[in-house]
Amino acid sequence: MPGTFVVAIDGPAASGKGTLARRLAERFGFAHLETGALYRASALLILDQGGDPADTPTAVAAARRVSPHLLSDPRLRGEDVTRAASIIAADPEVRRSLLDFQRDFAAHPPMPARGAILDGRDIGSVVCPAANVKLFVTADAEVRARRRLDELRACGSSAIYQDVLQELKDRDRRDTKRAAAPMAVPIDATIIDTTALDIDAAVERASQIVARALAGGR
Ligand code: C5P
Repeated sequence: MPGTFVVAIDGPAASGKGTLARRLAERFGFAHLETGALYRASALLILDQGGDPADTPTAVAAARRVSPHLLSDPRLRGEDVTRAASIIAADPEVRRSLLDFQRDFAAHPPMPARGAILDGRDIGSVVCPAANVKLFVTADAEVRARRRLDELRACGSSAIYQDVLQELKDRDRRDTKRAAAPMAVPIDATIIDTTALDIDAAVERASQIVARALAGGR
């Protein structure tokens, strides 16, 4: 992607990668695409029509209908949508259908952004393998489950810790074991482990890496 500065951020659910991506985008004036929202929007379209997320033609048709205005729908955060998104994400044809949208965003971020930040599971490995900066944000599953539980409770949910932890582990397993673009640490990525690192410290660490790359280093 010559000409566009791209930051690829990958990592498992509730690792802090979304917050990190948003904060970096604000700090450096980059446009941000949360690619998980593409899978979630596809899942929402399927569920709204009573479709089966495991059926490839249904899932591909939904992925092709995803448009930017769907990406901010609050229903994307629902538990059913979350589960269905992780099921359709294992389908190679769905992934292919969503690739152009992501690469187009990286190559032509909306003006006046001076670059693009994409977060997801396969950004540094598949979507933008030539990204200027690659980060992999992670944390222990127990810590991530606690964070997710706090978010859910803040929205009035009565979810319990063990269920949230199990759901996260199921998603991690589906994301890492699938044949198509499994979640993995890209060989040239910097790992940021947020198990014992608060978000401000993670932003500072990542900002140094981005600033160095913008200045011409790597
Ligand atoms: O990041 P988020 O939790 O919103 O992603 C929802 C689901 O979409 C994940 O569980 C994962 O299966 C899938 N996903 C993916 N590749 C991406 C982004 C998300 O497979 N680049």
